[in-house]
Amino acid sequence: MSTIFTKIASGEIPSYKVAETEDFYAFLDINPIVRGHVLVIPRKIEKDYIFDIDDAAYSGLWAFAKKVAEAVKKAIPCKRVGVAVLGMEVPHAHIHLVPLNSEADLDFRKPKLELSKEEFTRIAESILTEYGKLQ
Ligand code: 5GP
Repeated sequence: MSTIFTKIASGEIPSYKVAETEDFYAFLDINPIVRGHVLVIPRKIEKDYIFDIDDAAYSGLWAFAKKVAEAVKKAIPCKRVGVAVLGMEVPHAHIHLVPLNSEADLDFRKPKLELSKEEFTRIAESILTEYGKLQ
């Protein structure tokens, strides 16, 4: 039994990819709170709670998230990239990266943005391009 995020990382379920390595995957949140809202996940570890991940993989996940955040910062106009770990909905550990221009941008209770496929694609491509430049 695999989680929805494992299926996303394997390509079984489509997503708007922004970065990947052998062990980690990053893609656009389908219900973004701001443009460029990204989720970062481990591909092969299906722990529900992020603090249950072993130290090596946990460090690797955050190191990958740091690089993805750098790409997000370059692709999306923002003051900085905020981070959140919730896990209230999907039981597969993940990090939210959220481009911020103010504190209010990190409010998960506000109505989610409704973006077109074209807009999701454009945003994902711009982050993917910046991520590629960091390699
Ligand atoms: P959390 O578990 O951190 O509370 O929330 C899970 C996040 O994953 C939510 O922001 C939700 O919009 C996002 N999400 C849930 N299912 C999917 C999906 O199938 N595809 C994508 N791209 N995002 C999803």
